[in-house]
Amino acid sequence: MNTVPPLDLSQQYKLIQDEVSQAVQAVLASGRYIGGSIVEAFEQEFGQYIGAKETISCNSGTDALFLALRAFNIGPGDEVITTPFTFIATAEMISAVGATPVFVDINPQTFNLDLEQIPQAITARTKAIIPVHLFGQPVDMTRLMAIAQSYHLAVIEDCAQATGASWQGQKVGSIGHIGCFSFFPTKNLGACGDGGAVTTQDPALAQAMKIIKEHGQASRYSSETVGINSRLDALQAAILRIKLRYLDTWNQQRQTLARRYHQFLYPLSEIITPQEIACGQSVWNQYTIRVQSPSDAVSTLKPRDHLRNYLQEQGIGSMIYYPIPLHRQPVYQSLGYSAEQLPIVEAVCQEVLSLPLFPELSPDQQDQVIYAIKEGYSTV
Ligand SMILES: *Cc1c(COP(=O)(O)O)cnc(C)c1O
Repeated sequence: MNTVPPLDLSQQYKLIQDEVSQAVQAVLASGRYIGGSIVEAFEQEFGQYIGAKETISCNSGTDALFLALRAFNIGPGDEVITTPFTFIATAEMISAVGATPVFVDINPQTFNLDLEQIPQAITARTKAIIPVHLFGQPVDMTRLMAIAQSYHLAVIEDCAQATGASWQGQKVGSIGHIGCFSFFPTKNLGACGDGGAVTTQDPALAQAMKIIKEHGQASRYSSETVGINSRLDALQAAILRIKLRYLDTWNQQRQTLARRYHQFLYPLSEIITPQEIACGQSVWNQYTIRVQSPSDAVSTLKPRDHLRNYLQEQGIGSMIYYPIPLHRQPVYQSLGYSAEQLPIVEAVCQEVLSLPLFPELSPDQQDQVIYAIKEGYSTV
């Protein structure tokens, strides 16, 4: 039986193997492993791609969020509004700088922050909003920026899953005050290890983040603030420069696959397919369906879990992003959120299932997934 993995990074490597080997060899031979012209060239090219004046590379998407929050002097006593439906790093870095994450419920169609609910979550302590362009789908940045402007809040875009996505023709990461990117291998632009970057149009913010990422040093051996050490390796920069040239093609392949899933899965009544919002272009880091629980369910197994098990039996991998919303993580119990406060994300976490989608997924493999879902859900 053929198996369909949820993701296969080795296929992409095969495609660019020769180019990568040459670039890696060149870095190894150069003797320049930290900083230098390759890292600078990547920052320049990435900034150009995103449409941001300034790009500063760093060690991870997590560090990018940390740098952005610190650039705004966000710390103890401050609140930052974000989504409970994201990877832990988003809220974790708010806590790491000493501030408090404030969770606002999501829109079940887009899986992103419900912008309608943001104003009522704003207090005198609120300093920033971190929208997450989850699964590659952009947040409505026009509305979000209008809300932020009227309350004088900073906007830090978490673009970790959305490199190349755009809102009204502008790339995410170029619209808010700072964009945070991850080059973790499974992201749309992934390194062969860890990596990240922040983007901004504001030279002062860029300068602040440069200083913080280098031990708080404004000039060598003179530290003016408590910083960290966060660098993108020259080896990773060399690999990312190559992959950046393929990114649009890979994102288009993802879009084609997503359209095909939609075409075949949309008619199934038990399954809710993800919708692209008007004016936005998703880059489909994940294709995440919702498998709804009938209200008269007698089985103890959730339909989502039933389908996931069925797919597994057919050799098809699927993933649950995310099984537990952030307000219910043990680390955030102390914030005292109740399930009733965030009902949409509570329900969505029981229903979501991310299907195999990566640029190299073949039509045959995708047919297997579609066929198995049609079979599988009919047995729920
Ligand atoms: C991956 C991810 C991060 C963290 O990026 P790392 O490079 O793994 O540190 C942050 N936010 C979101 C939404 C992510 O998906």
